[in-house]
Amino acid sequence: MNSNSLGIYIHIPYCRSKCPYCDFFSMRGNKANYIEYVDLLKNSVKYWSGKTDKTVDTIYLGGGTPSVLGADSVYEIIKSVKEYFNVTNNAEITMEANPSSGKFFDFEKVKEIGLNRVSLGIQSANSNELKKLGRIHSREDVINTIELIKKAGIDNISLDIMLGIPEQSQESLRETIDFCVNTEVKHISSYILKLEENTFFYKNQDRYNFPDEDMTSDLYLYSIEYLRENGFNQYEISNFSKPGFESRHNLKYWNLNDYLGIGAAAHSFLDGRRFYYGRSVEDFKNNIIINDGIGGTKEEYIMLKLRLKSGLSLDEYKKAFGEDVSKDFLNKINIYNKAGYLDIKNDSVSFSDKGFLVSNSIISELI
Ligand code: SF4
Repeated sequence: MNSNSLGIYIHIPYCRSKCPYCDFFSMRGNKANYIEYVDLLKNSVKYWSGKTDKTVDTIYLGGGTPSVLGADSVYEIIKSVKEYFNVTNNAEITMEANPSSGKFFDFEKVKEIGLNRVSLGIQSANSNELKKLGRIHSREDVINTIELIKKAGIDNISLDIMLGIPEQSQESLRETIDFCVNTEVKHISSYILKLEENTFFYKNQDRYNFPDEDMTSDLYLYSIEYLRENGFNQYEISNFSKPGFESRHNLKYWNLNDYLGIGAAAHSFLDGRRFYYGRSVEDFKNNIIINDGIGGTKEEYIMLKLRLKSGLSLDEYKKAFGEDVSKDFLNKINIYNKAGYLDIKNDSVSFSDKGFLVSNSIISELI
């Protein structure tokens, strides 16, 4: 689990507008906000470089919408990480971007400083669904932005899509997946829409025709199968990629590798400790860090490994904790295996497709 490598996550809390389903820490900002925030980030990068000498092999700018800052600011942020940390030559450096940012964002500039992966939150390729989601981009925007990213020499592109959108059907999901496949991206994340409290969708749910639980489950199972048919292997509950294009940064979360979160609301797992910045720019400015206790416990290990399609290796578990899993645990996994929710192969336990759908409740039974 612990090694000398480190992933750095940088949170940019600004977006052009607030999406009706979004529960992330994000808000509208202006030029002055951006300038101040980038300075805070650079100071924080310097501060943290004095706290650890681990080698950085992934950097991930998430949000919010990091691309709203503009290419010069993104360049500055990555440059400061490279200046203060020991960053490997082949580090995976990802930025989340707005699918309509093509016209406004200089991808060539950020490629110069090493950015080599872009994640676009397209959510759907169906114009009716995009309208329902309050998204401001069109299919053409996505196509143009992908073209510009590729023209800049960045081939590792990921698209986020969503399941459970009001009035979504298997046909419209197929249309979205076909669209993604035709753009020849390397990675697709497919998230089930959850009605989070405090979101516009949550407060106005009666006004929308959300697919019910059965329908959403069918959409999930269909997406796994159809993505697989199109060469995208599932490697985590919500993540699919062409071989070799799994997100190295996100894998750190599930493999309990060290990562440092810099920015408002950013979470860290470093040297066995979990901590995070408070959920406001003010908290970040005042370096308010909330201790979240010890990480990497047996329970966490089981829970996070089971999110991966490769699952939980019982041998690896023994190596990590110096003991076998309990008899009770083995009995339970055999029961779920017989019921078709868990697969057991050699020394590994993993969820089947239908198991992933109820993974939360099974995991809480197991640990
Ligand atoms: S763009 Fe992303 S982070 Fe911003 S409001 Fe929409 S879903 Fe939330």
